[in-house]
Amino acid sequence: MTELLSDLPVTRLKGVGAALELKLERLGLHTLQDLLFHLPLRYQDRTRVVPMGALRPGDECVVTGEIKVADLMQGRRRALLCRMQDGTGTISLRFFHFSAAQKNQLLPGVRLRCFGEVRPGPGGLEMVHPEYSRIDGDGAVSVDSTLTPVYPATEGLHQTRLRSLVTLAMQYLQPGTLPDLLPETLRRQWKLPGLDDSIRYLHQPPVDANQDLLLEGRHPSQRRLAFEELLAHHLTLLNLRQQAQQQGAPALPYRGTLVKPFLAALPFPLTGAQQRVCNDVARDMTKTFPMLRLIQGDVGSGKTVVAALAALQAMENGVQAAIMAPTEILAEQHRNNFTQWLEPLGIEVAWLAGKVKGKARQKQLAAIQDGSARLVVGTHALFQDEVQFQDLGLVVVDEQHRFGVHQRLSLREKGRNGERAPHQLIMTATPIPRTLTMSAYADLDCSVIDELPPGRTPVNTVVIADGRRQEVVQRVSLACAEGRQAYWVCTLIDESEALQCQAAEVTCENLREALPDLRIGLVHGRMKATEKASVMAQFKAAELDLLVATTVIEVGVDVPNASLMIIENPERLGLAQLHQLRGRVGRGSQESFCVLMYQAPLSKQGRERLAVMRETTDGFRIAEKDLELRGPGEVLGTRQTGMMQFRIADLNRDADLLPGVREVALQIQQDASLGSAVIRRWLGQGGEYGHV
Ligand code: ADP
Ligand code: MG
Repeated sequence: MTELLSDLPVTRLKGVGAALELKLERLGLHTLQDLLFHLPLRYQDRTRVVPMGALRPGDECVVTGEIKVADLMQGRRRALLCRMQDGTGTISLRFFHFSAAQKNQLLPGVRLRCFGEVRPGPGGLEMVHPEYSRIDGDGAVSVDSTLTPVYPATEGLHQTRLRSLVTLAMQYLQPGTLPDLLPETLRRQWKLPGLDDSIRYLHQPPVDANQDLLLEGRHPSQRRLAFEELLAHHLTLLNLRQQAQQQGAPALPYRGTLVKPFLAALPFPLTGAQQRVCNDVARDMTKTFPMLRLIQGDVGSGKTVVAALAALQAMENGVQAAIMAPTEILAEQHRNNFTQWLEPLGIEVAWLAGKVKGKARQKQLAAIQDGSARLVVGTHALFQDEVQFQDLGLVVVDEQHRFGVHQRLSLREKGRNGERAPHQLIMTATPIPRTLTMSAYADLDCSVIDELPPGRTPVNTVVIADGRRQEVVQRVSLACAEGRQAYWVCTLIDESEALQCQAAEVTCENLREALPDLRIGLVHGRMKATEKASVMAQFKAAELDLLVATTVIEVGVDVPNASLMIIENPERLGLAQLHQLRGRVGRGSQESFCVLMYQAPLSKQGRERLAVMRETTDGFRIAEKDLELRGPGEVLGTRQTGMMQFRIADLNRDADLLPGVREVALQIQQDASLGSAVIRRWLGQGGEYGHV
């Protein structure tokens, strides 16, 4: 019977005991299959001897020659220096650490074969601590027949050991021990080599392998593995979607009893994009399985109205709707908006946030439970165990741009009511490049609001060094004198929130001194929610001219009269976040400005990124650029959540594989056993994402 490499523990290999097993575990290597999927980072070429005359600094290669001089250098650092010659040139070997035996062996006249990196030294090219062996007599020098892999290693588990372990594991690579899960027809269609061949090639590439291609990770053998891994992730998401949709949901068709009067009273017509997205949502809600829709719309594109329309359609059918925002400030803003919009329709907006306490809370909880509260707005507090909905039909999650699969799942779980799940609408202002959406959110349907309401003037963005702070302060003074309002955003990334708040406090003090005529307010994350809200309310009511803030104002805050924003240290923020911040201005009719005040000097990448901000206000272009410059982990904001961790695939590099992956996933989704084999291979038992 053939044993599968995925079933064979590393301890099956000769010489692997408990201690080594533990070290391998640190690299995530448990089975022989894991070892074979542990791909080299790069390769060394020990397949030929390079003449010394042809060496260049930076080369990593084999040389052979005879020691001409061996000297003990005394100087700042003691070293053994051997000068070698091969008839075409010379090179020195330098040893800082050496034994007496080594010193006695490395004598003039001795011939050596060395491998190491060539560097410029004080007296010409040299190798520091090369690997070496003696060539005895005039025996031919042996060279390797394949390139030498260099693996990701870990403390106490070095290259030579890893190489020999992989070589041992390769002996188990027999027909059938590592089944090729991709059917032949698909492989041919997508031009993917076989699995065995790919693995062999990557651990032991032939002499003439294209090393550049391998280094970039674009060799067909690598792409084949990446393809399969991406496929596994995609299939997992499709499964999740299928499971979610197997739950029932209340059909909530459009009736118009609330939607119509709402639209009639709305002071503006919907944009074409809003209309289109609303139609997508309205159609989803008529189904008897839960809607799972993601709405992407740039800041200011008018997502709130879309949420309101969905909520009204739910209420037209007699079920409850819940709207959740990530912060109290935002939740409160929604509460105000919805109250204003819906009160005329006779709908009371219930309100639940962390700060709603005591009797008030009990009252809200009771109303949610007995169903007298039809629309509930709140923060994460909405999903605490004590909150029981009578008949929740729709959940809207706003500004949820930093969430992974896990959070999506727990959200679904919490909204569940017996066999029925609510319809779900997720809204984000972070535009995500299409390729990423397709793979990271394959369990969701996506709609994009790709049009801003008319009458907006694009924000002018200026990039200025911190040295010109005085001018910037003057500019704030002038703008406020003209009756405009301004934001001053203090950022400190990777520092504690406490430090960030402190910085904002100091800046606020300084600005108050410099601009005594202005009414200046401060908001930061360490203030009580009520204090924050009251400062925000003052700013909104134009009782403050300047608002000094940390990035707590990032999302959603709407003050149309604010037309100037200063952002300190913008070079430390992601482009998406800068875009979000900047979206706070340019909401009114007057011309708006955003001043990015960086700390000189800027790195090349920093310059490039800020230039992007200056050149465009298109959220999707900014997202594409962010992806290019920082990678998908940052763009999706999921580096920390452990979502989309790949062993081999790289979303940036392999983005062009995604359309194919998607197609293949849809094809083999029908074949449950094949699909689950792929998932098991790459994401382990049950899949990394757990069960619904
Ligand atoms: P976001 O997508 O960032 O959540 P909002 O829903 O807060 O955007 O809308 C931003 C502003 O644009 C609000 O003041 C809102 O009333 C207004 N707005 C929304 N839709 C339209 C529209 N179709 N025409 C004009 N103004 C609109
Ligand atoms: Mg919003």
